[in-house]
Amino acid sequence: MQSKKILVIEDSLAMLTYEVEALKGRFSFPILTASSMQEAKEILKYSRDEIFVALADLVLPDAPNGEIIDLLIGEGIATIVFTGQYNEELRQFVMSKPIVDYILKSSLNNFQYALRLVAGLYENQFIRALVVDDSEFARMKVEFSLSRLQISVVHASNIDDAMIILTDNPDIRLVLTDYHMQSDGNNGVNLTSKIRQLYCSDKMTIIGYSSDTNKKLPIEFLKNGANDYIPFNYSEEEFTLRVIGNLELMAHLRMAREMAIKDFLTGLYNRRYLFEVAKQLFHQVSRDTMTLGVAMIDVDFFKKINDEFGHDVGDLALKHIATLLEKTMRKSDLVTRFGGEEFCLLIVNVENQQMFQIVENLRLLIERSPLQIETATACTSIPITISAGFTTKKFSTIDEAIKESDIHLYTAKSQGRNCTCH
Ligand code: GH3
Ligand code: MG
Ligand code: MG
Repeated sequence: MQSKKILVIEDSLAMLTYEVEALKGRFSFPILTASSMQEAKEILKYSRDEIFVALADLVLPDAPNGEIIDLLIGEGIATIVFTGQYNEELRQFVMSKPIVDYILKSSLNNFQYALRLVAGLYENQFIRALVVDDSEFARMKVEFSLSRLQISVVHASNIDDAMIILTDNPDIRLVLTDYHMQSDGNNGVNLTSKIRQLYCSDKMTIIGYSSDTNKKLPIEFLKNGANDYIPFNYSEEEFTLRVIGNLELMAHLRMAREMAIKDFLTGLYNRRYLFEVAKQLFHQVSRDTMTLGVAMIDVDFFKKINDEFGHDVGDLALKHIATLLEKTMRKSDLVTRFGGEEFCLLIVNVENQQMFQIVENLRLLIERSPLQIETATACTSIPITISAGFTTKKFSTIDEAIKESDIHLYTAKSQGRNCTCH
């Protein structure tokens, strides 16, 4: 179970209000507040496991010397420290403890950074990092820096092990690798290049590091697909900024990719993705290594649903159909919203009769699953049917297969709808 609450400890009411409002403006996480160390202790007694991050004022009336840090760290809570003043001695004091980072209260920009940290710390509960280094001491140092950010770590001491661990652990999203590896002829740049061939930047963040001051190393890492490079004698603040920044970028890339290939209304893949996937599949078909079935599905008299019940109910009907399609298809098949009230299915390794059964089963399922709309006063059942056309003939492009399926779909419509033609 992932923790979802934020604990804010601050004795100035004005500052506490400002922090809570800023957090509420950005997140929907529940927020717990305390104005003293004693109050914080009380909250921890009952809610420790629900808290994933604490924002703590360094100086509290009953804990004037930063004692709150030890309390929170002792509980294993990711801690962001707020301080009204800054000097080198203070910086060294707070950073000697395994906190996430410290924030100067006087700067609004710093507060924006605190919000980024909170967002990152929440996400970090779901990912793991792989640290690749032949020195155990170095691995422990990097693990310590990652544990400040609540990122759990898997270790590898050589490149072959690293590749095996990556395949076995799909939740690994971040790799930190040293350059020099003594055990074999490879180095961290070779590893970076290998990983990058398998995982795009929206799936894996790679950060290279080395204690070697050779200026070519960062260039080699970056040219071979690393997202960043840090010298091994990094400061904890720099490490935090780079890791959080790179993970943020990966999350944004992933979101942009999702938005580009998925249909917003139904959550199904869209036409763009269909053509992307089809390109590879039809290549395999042309080499005779697989067969492909392509089906075009169109909702019958959909305009009537919109006209009779409104566009919102029309939207619900599309979502309902999408859910039924997705539920029935195998993982290897592709269900896409082709546009409007049309869907396209790509089914791999299928014979004509089998394909007919699959599409007919879908048609029957939809016919037997009317959309139920409940309002305060009435419950309405809206029947929905589809017409389908498909082909399992061998084509060299998806356009040709869709054209053929569309001809059959047209026949299905002209034969009275709610049927499958091929
Ligand atoms: P047929 O049986 O011949 O396919 O008739 P039809 O009414 O289903 O086909 P037609 O092409 O005349 O109408 C399709 C309608 O689908 C028109 C359009 O407004 C509606 N539509 C397209 N996209 C959406 C959407 O995202 N939401 C809703 N609610 N309606 C949509
Ligand atoms: Mg239609
Ligand atoms: Mg249509």
